[in-house]
Amino acid sequence: MATCSSCNKSLATADVLYTEDAQPVCVGCSAQREIKRDEKNAARNIKMAGVTCLVAGLVGFAAFYINYGLFFYPAAIVSVASGLYAGQAMLTSDRFTAHMTSADKTITMVCAIGGLAIAAFETLVLGGYIDWRPRV
Ligand SMILES: [Zn+2]
Repeated sequence: MATCSSCNKSLATADVLYTEDAQPVCVGCSAQREIKRDEKNAARNIKMAGVTCLVAGLVGFAAFYINYGLFFYPAAIVSVASGLYAGQAMLTSDRFTAHMTSADKTITMVCAIGGLAIAAFETLVLGGYIDWRPRV
């Protein structure tokens, strides 16, 4: 007779499941763990999206600076899409962000805001609102 390592329920042999570190768990706790793992993955994706936003933003800005549109547009699109995803996930997905440390949250927000700020600046320059000339 095994007991669930998570909720201490007694388990019939047929009902025993095992965690990745070989602890016996019941079906309910196993499902819970799986949900948690998915949420942690989602939290990591949110952080990655924030970092991607900034990195793509910087790549796009470099391309913008040397007037190399071929790289600028895809990088800008990736940056803005990731930044918006990270930003809205940070603001609305408590379920996922609960798995992030405050350092993770700060990094994600700073990167997303930085990347989006770069995109906003480029948009203003392209729209002629700011008189800033990239090197030709
Ligand atoms: Zn259990």
